[in-house]
Amino acid sequence: MLTRRNLILGSGAAATSGLVLAPGAARAATGSIALPDDLDTERLITVTNAPTRRNLVAMTFDDGPHPTYTPTLLDILKKRRIRATFYVIGQNVARYPDIVKRMVDEGHEIGNHTWRHPFLSQLGSKSVLRELDRTSDAVYKAVQRMPVTMRPPYGALSRRQRAMIHKEREMPTILWSVDPEDWRRPGSTVVASRIVGGAKPGAIILSHDIHSQTVKAMPAALDGLIDKGYRFETVSMILGQRDWTKLRWRLPTADSRDS
Ligand SMILES: [Zn+2]
Repeated sequence: MLTRRNLILGSGAAATSGLVLAPGAARAATGSIALPDDLDTERLITVTNAPTRRNLVAMTFDDGPHPTYTPTLLDILKKRRIRATFYVIGQNVARYPDIVKRMVDEGHEIGNHTWRHPFLSQLGSKSVLRELDRTSDAVYKAVQRMPVTMRPPYGALSRRQRAMIHKEREMPTILWSVDPEDWRRPGSTVVASRIVGGAKPGAIILSHDIHSQTVKAMPAALDGLIDKGYRFETVSMILGQRDWTKLRWRLPTADSRDS
């Protein structure tokens, strides 16, 4: 079951139990993710960038997997030995589980981007959780791992909803600090230059692996970032957490889902 104790990427467990988690100790004792101690409570619930001065960025790709663009992107990442995070849509995971498997096999992280990509801000809590749980189930089925972070479609999630998701599923809402607006299809050169130009230490960079322009922009974008001295980590890693695949996630119980 999805307990507070084994699902820690936020402050919920520490705050509700009165425990102060020493990062290393918590990892060793429970296998759960320890808390970065330099994030305030609000930022554990909502993350736009990582608090680091190191030249690290997290590439994130939303809305896939796409049957052809995503494998092409995976080739581009593999060639550069770059790890990224994919905020996948549950329906697409059910359709293309082998691509999700490949993502994980090649060191990428899978995040939850809902089942059918609705405006979550227009849904009640129960429907929001159902969107997330259905997607986590599909990811688990494909790779035997659960996403540990979520990203709301269109970034549309109220503060109250972000707190609710954090409380009920221990998932931080991951937004972004660099948006090349690739979905508007401004051309691959523009997408690449916006990404390279917008990057700062700790940046979380938004893109979509369902557009050919975006994938076409990636060699120049990634090489541009490499030339500026940036290295790449997944979202969990850049937030100072363990590799997400090392965590012992469990599926939510029927009880926790209906609550
Ligand atoms: Zn999306």
